[in-house]
Amino acid sequence: MRIDILTIFPEIFAGLFQVGIARRAQEAGLVTLAAYDLREWTDDKHRSVDDAPYGGGAGMVMQPEPWFRALEALRADAPPGRATLLTPQGRVLTRNVTRELAAEERLILLCGRYEGVDERVREHLVDDEISIGDYVLSGGEVAAMVLVEAIVRLLPGALGAAESLAEESHEGGLLEYPHYTRPPDFRGWRVPDVLLGGNHGAIAKWRREQQLDRTAARRPDLLEKADLTPQERRRWLPASAEG
Ligand code: SAM
Repeated sequence: MRIDILTIFPEIFAGLFQVGIARRAQEAGLVTLAAYDLREWTDDKHRSVDDAPYGGGAGMVMQPEPWFRALEALRADAPPGRATLLTPQGRVLTRNVTRELAAEERLILLCGRYEGVDERVREHLVDDEISIGDYVLSGGEVAAMVLVEAIVRLLPGALGAAESLAEESHEGGLLEYPHYTRPPDFRGWRVPDVLLGGNHGAIAKWRREQQLDRTAARRPDLLEKADLTPQERRRWLPASAEG
């Protein structure tokens, strides 16, 4: 997979690309990550990418020309990829959306700044629009980082042998169970006995119940759609099991 990022602050991405799973996945040849300065595709001496909004109003708007030129250049010698604008008006990022994006051969992420981008970019250049949540950031860069972090770990082979996607939060529609490590007693707070006992069946049962309890307490909306056995449905979703 290849992920290209278009931004006026490419330097922000250097740290992310050089650590953890993102670095390992690049070294293993699973993904190529690159950030490009949108100002490379300007031709005035101030390298400007924004101008005042038609119709007046506060703030500046990012002009269409640099985005179109950049996309044309980035697409000249490689598969076109899915041009994805980060915007608070996009579809909200979820586990299913990250899976869908991780299946793409190439993504080109467009990071807005200021009041946003000229509407013609949205209408005639981008294939997709993603929001990372119902709040407004000052720019799309952090949102693009969220996307990169969420997608790269889904690429087959990106996680080490000791790591697994299977039980993570949102897999199977539930939140993950709680984790503990040494010491068994920290300032009087003990690790649950079941985890110290070595009975794998009992541990698996406890973990599943913890997942169900915490999803019911924190995200009942998820529980409705989760993969539950009929017994679990009766215990954790009594109202819907009756219906
Ligand atoms: N005026 C725009 C609006 O109300 O929709 C918000 C512009 S925001 C200050 C600047 C840029 O940050 C946006 O163009 C977008 O790229 C990015 N951004 C802000 N919030 C975001 C979110 N929740 N998800 C993804 N990108 C976001």
